[in-house]
Amino acid sequence: RLVEQEPASSAETVIEQTLRPKTLAQYIGQTAVKNQLDIYITAAKKREESLDHVLLYGPPGLGKTTLALVIANELGVNIRTTSGPAIERPGDLVALLNELQPGDVLFIDEIHRLPKIVEEMLYSAMEDFYIDIVVGEGPTAHPVHFPLPPFTLIGATTRAGVLSAPLRDRFGISAHMAYYTDEELTQIVFRSADVFDLTLEDQGAHEIARRSRGTPRIANRLLKRVRDFADVADAQTVSLDIVQHALTQLQVDARGLDQIDRKLLALMIRDYNGGPVGLNTIAANIGEERATIEEMYEPYLLQIGFLKRTPRGRMATQAAYEHLGLPYNN
Ligand code: ADP
Repeated sequence: RLVEQEPASSAETVIEQTLRPKTLAQYIGQTAVKNQLDIYITAAKKREESLDHVLLYGPPGLGKTTLALVIANELGVNIRTTSGPAIERPGDLVALLNELQPGDVLFIDEIHRLPKIVEEMLYSAMEDFYIDIVVGEGPTAHPVHFPLPPFTLIGATTRAGVLSAPLRDRFGISAHMAYYTDEELTQIVFRSADVFDLTLEDQGAHEIARRSRGTPRIANRLLKRVRDFADVADAQTVSLDIVQHALTQLQVDARGLDQIDRKLLALMIRDYNGGPVGLNTIAANIGEERATIEEMYEPYLLQIGFLKRTPRGRMATQAAYEHLGLPYNN
């Protein structure tokens, strides 16, 4: 069984890689961020310097990793990718930095989860391209000054607010990733459909886009499931009907909310009269982690105006009641 799964999973990886745009021109949406980066990248190349460090922040699935790969590609340099929790000890960071060539990109996803001791080592690495490490133990222990080639750190985080000021201040470029419009997501859906060799009707593509919560990762995921339904139904082109059928089966509603979103809103409305409810209470009641709710569910519900943040907790809005078909009499 394991042997059977091997080719399938590597095929998935290949598709994942083909789905990712390679250049800024292919990267759909995030116009403000792209325009900024285009100038900084061009300037850095002209001066033959490394690009200043870049911080990308915003909800998961909006294309931060993809953009880091695009930046390295546009710069014409190598990229090493890792994540905050994967760098456990200072030695892990030294090993990563040691492999960099001048101008290379080091991408650290979830940079807010770096251990403090590693984060502190990054300060001098980012600012002056060196690290001080202690070699040896006991009486023979001595500091070694370790120069680094100029490099670009790209950090990604879903929570810019929890980054320490000294780390945040060392990023010369900082970009907020916004949710995508339905038009942009439609373009992404068409592009991915091309990769899958799938013919989509306009209305079908729009419907997937509308239900993807402004998030390319979700758009691609829904498209893959729709493709399964189309394959089973032997459909040559994917119509609105097929899309609607597939998304209903997946319990993704007209606004793109899934079961957990609806459970969260229903809990607030039914058990807490619409709030205010604290995040910990919500988390305990629906059986999800606080961080998951804060990073994955809440931002979109806030964005579409179904939730409000107040000093006393979260509140469900009238729009949320209406969406769930519940009477609003607050
Ligand atoms: P993040 O790092 O923000 O969680 P990713 O970069 O992993 O998000 O993107 C998730 C998926 O969405 C990837 O498969 C990628 O192909 C797709 N994607 C993200 N942004 C874009 C974009 N601007 N254009 C086309 N596809 C995108």
